[in-house]
Amino acid sequence: ALPKPEELRNLAELGMGNGGSVMKVEHVPSGIVMAKKIVLIDAKPSVRKQILRELHIMHTCDSQYIVSSYGAFLADPNICICMEFMDKGSFDTIYKRIGAIDIDVVGKVADSVLKGLLYLYDVHRIVHRDIKPSNILLNSSGEVKLCDFGVSGELINSLANTFVGTSIYMSPERIQGAEYSIRSDVWSLGITIVELAHGRFPFSECSDDFLNSAITPGVGFDGRPPSTLISSPQQHRSISIPEEKELPPLPPLEIPRRDSLAPGIGNGNGNGNVNSHGNAATTRRSRGVSLHGGAMTMSILELMHLIVREPAPTLVNLDSDSKKFPKEAKDFVDCCLEKDVEKRKTPRELVGYPWFGMMNVAKVDMKVWAESV
Ligand code: ADP
Ligand code: MG
Repeated sequence: ALPKPEELRNLAELGMGNGGSVMKVEHVPSGIVMAKKIVLIDAKPSVRKQILRELHIMHTCDSQYIVSSYGAFLADPNICICMEFMDKGSFDTIYKRIGAIDIDVVGKVADSVLKGLLYLYDVHRIVHRDIKPSNILLNSSGEVKLCDFGVSGELINSLANTFVGTSIYMSPERIQGAEYSIRSDVWSLGITIVELAHGRFPFSECSDDFLNSAITPGVGFDGRPPSTLISSPQQHRSISIPEEKELPPLPPLEIPRRDSLAPGIGNGNGNGNVNSHGNAATTRRSRGVSLHGGAMTMSILELMHLIVREPAPTLVNLDSDSKKFPKEAKDFVDCCLEKDVEKRKTPRELVGYPWFGMMNVAKVDMKVWAESV
């Protein structure tokens, strides 16, 4: 039966993202431990009801690669989603605790994510929209499952005017305002694989501080338009860059028109903070790069620009003692991180990829590995 708000007892906080918070709860009547996600939504009651109806699709998902749902309810002004509790947590927390994840284990994770994406798309015509380590969960049976997929069009719309839809895992085409497609999920998977295998986010200019702040709650969650957000010093999320000369020269930033914007990236309302025709120096400054305590800082917009402009990240051996990445893994990552969306493969084309058939990957026992985490 659908859990009722009063039947849930809080056990612990599991984490906070930029879309809300997640609690470990007990459904008292059944004794089932669940994860309760609380999402703050600023929308009319009719829209909220529609969101709830759409979230029902989650309830009908039945795959070993997808976190199952117990149901959702409205708890003004929030929407609560009760889902399967994954006792080993998400892959961001895992790698931040144990360091870079063995490439053969990463192969297993990638295989599960692809199968999850394939299930969502083939059975429900859903694209995930938010593939990243924190939305890939592990349990002590060694199962790897996806959560937080875009089941509700209304929910996506309600969040679209905030910074919530913005993610550092966004594909170049999405940053440039193109329609979201299944291939955008594949890009995010590629970034995720590099992050897990290297034990750090692939855009090396970014410090942990920035990456944490970039996904911290409150970034635009008040529903203010992103330009307001960027111009406000308290809200300015920045990263440290050691020296200015290390910054590559920036071509003029092209501000997409409002109607072609990806959710959350600038609103092109002519706010003087973003200037598309300045020279490199003023453009850089006007884009939110400024001096803080002597170090150059970079805003999330700057990172977005890097993703569009720079060659895609690759799997590279970071030090000589670490286990070599097999060619198959590198090739797979290169397929995912094809910058041209037209040339990028789909999950269906990638699911039987040679990497997953390799002896080393095939013989990984995820249950044993999960126990060691
Ligand atoms: P984000 O995914 O951006 O980190 P969320 O609010 O979606 O933010 O989730 C916060 C954290 O809660 C995640 O990083 C994850 O570690 C944890 N979490 C989410 N869902 C579950 C779940 N079903 N079981 C266990 N932990 C979860
Ligand atoms: Mg999440």
